[in-house]
Amino acid sequence: MHILLCEDDPLIAAGIVTGLQADNLMVEVANTASMTEQLLSCAHFDLLILDLGLPDMDGQRLLERLRRQGLRLPVLILSARDTIDDRVNGLRAGADDYLLKPFDLRELSARILGLLRRAGGHSAAVLQHGDLQFDPASGDCFLGQQRIELSRREQALITALLQHPQQILSADQLKDRVYGLQDDVESNALNVHIHNLRRKLGNELIETVRGLGYRLGKPITGNPL
Ligand code: CA
Repeated sequence: MHILLCEDDPLIAAGIVTGLQADNLMVEVANTASMTEQLLSCAHFDLLILDLGLPDMDGQRLLERLRRQGLRLPVLILSARDTIDDRVNGLRAGADDYLLKPFDLRELSARILGLLRRAGGHSAAVLQHGDLQFDPASGDCFLGQQRIELSRREQALITALLQHPQQILSADQLKDRVYGLQDDVESNALNVHIHNLRRKLGNELIETVRGLGYRLGKPITGNPL
């Protein structure tokens, strides 16, 4: 999962990045409203965490503008503004959740995972595809009764595919989710992870759609290995 964090306090941002990475969430930091808009226009994100006190624009105004422009991804406001009015206005501006600073990282992470689940149309925490079960929060993966160990990159990849079961995802979209905005990714690195996932979970799991990208294959039943 690829998260955009709009936060101008470098210490808070660093703490959130470290905490969420431990939950297999990839976090990009923007420290101004304009950088946030720029990143949203050039990469795919699954969720935005938004501070309200930003140097170049009020976060609530930024959110209103983004929603007017058609931004659909879930937004969690993270702010020290603690009046009922602040919270109501934040939610009215288009936020899906509002968490007060100071906060506990475990609560932030739990709320984010809840928002991502709902955005993906899943009410259950565990993603399922035939006999394959995967829990994005813990990284636990089971094929039937058999536990399969997945690397962090493989987990990011399988999460993206399982959360968009009917959709073709381009190599660039998958790279965003697996590597974030790192630009020094070897061109065949994604292929290597796809190859490894197929080796671990069966060839049928990921379908190559020539010229377009990849799609989740048929549900896995029995042990394909
Ligand atoms: Ca701030």
